[in-house]
This record gives sequence, structure tokens and C-alpha cells, in this order.
Amino acid sequence: MIEKISHIGIAVKNMQEALSVFEDGIGLEVTSTDEVKAQKVRVAFLPVGETRLELLEPTQDDSPIAKFLENRGEGIHHIALKVTNIEESLAKLKEKGVKLINEEPVAGAHGTRIAFLHPKGTKGVMLELVEEGEHE
Ligand code: ZN
Repeated sequence: MIEKISHIGIAVKNMQEALSVFEDGIGLEVTSTDEVKAQKVRVAFLPVGETRLELLEPTQDDSPIAKFLENRGEGIHHIALKVTNIEESLAKLKEKGVKLINEEPVAGAHGTRIAFLHPKGTKGVMLELVEEGEHE
């Protein structure tokens, strides 16, 4: 059901400034960017071996990421788990009483389908399920 860690999401206030840290400073490289309208964020993916860092910058003041930045500041926002079948995964979690933010999959970056689990049910860690498209 869960294949691997797809990516680790990091909330940032300013993408350009964050890229200067993660590319110029740390030495990672952005391989893809996207804007996710449903989440009101701009994202950049930086591969690290099997997994990736996902930098998330809000595009609007009412973006969930803008709210996160306001409350918690910059930092790790979520850990994304790659699943083969997101509907099946959500149904199983619901059955087990796991608290979900998204009961149904929503559109993620690069044609993926995603759903967030509520951090209150998972020890304060927000988990994202992601079913990757063929372009991932
Ligand atoms: Zn993510």
C-alpha cells in the first residue's frame, strides 16, 4: 500500500530566497516546478536520491501554507507517502478511524492525486498520500 517517501514538504516564505539556500548553499538542484491552484502554492522539487524535497511557497494570503507560516514559521510542513491506489488507501484509513483532512483525493503537483491526513491523528506530523501519475 505504501511504497516509499515520495517527498518531504517544506514551507517557505520566499521561493527565490529558499532556492538560494537549497541550491547554492546545500547543493541540491531543482528538477521541476509547478503551481498547485487547489492548494494556492508554488512548488519546486529537488531530488535527493530516491526521494525529494518539495519547497512550498504560498501564492495567496488564504493559502494553507500561508496560514502554516503565520502560525509555525518556515519549516517541515508534511511528509508525503507514495501509495499505489489512493482511493483504496483512504478507504482503509477511514475504516481504521484515522483522521483525514481530505476524504477524497485532490489535485497535486504534476498531475498527481493527493490527500492530507490530519496531524492531530499522527503525532503532530502531517502526512500526505500521493498517487503519482505516469510523469513522476
Ligand atoms: Zn507534498
